[in-house]
Amino acid sequence: MNQLYHVVCRDCATESLRRSEEDAARVADDHAETADHEVAVARVH
Ligand SMILES: [Zn+2]
Repeated sequence: MNQLYHVVCRDCATESLRRSEEDAARVADDHAETADHEVAVARVH
């Protein structure tokens, strides 16, 4: 099991790869809240 989640902001250059959905969601929520940007999470594997 080697899952990867790609967190990418639609409003700036912020992006990040995370190993867990929970972690990806937290990073996405945190950026969306602090920067007021729209952030997408895509499962890579
Ligand atoms: Zn952003």
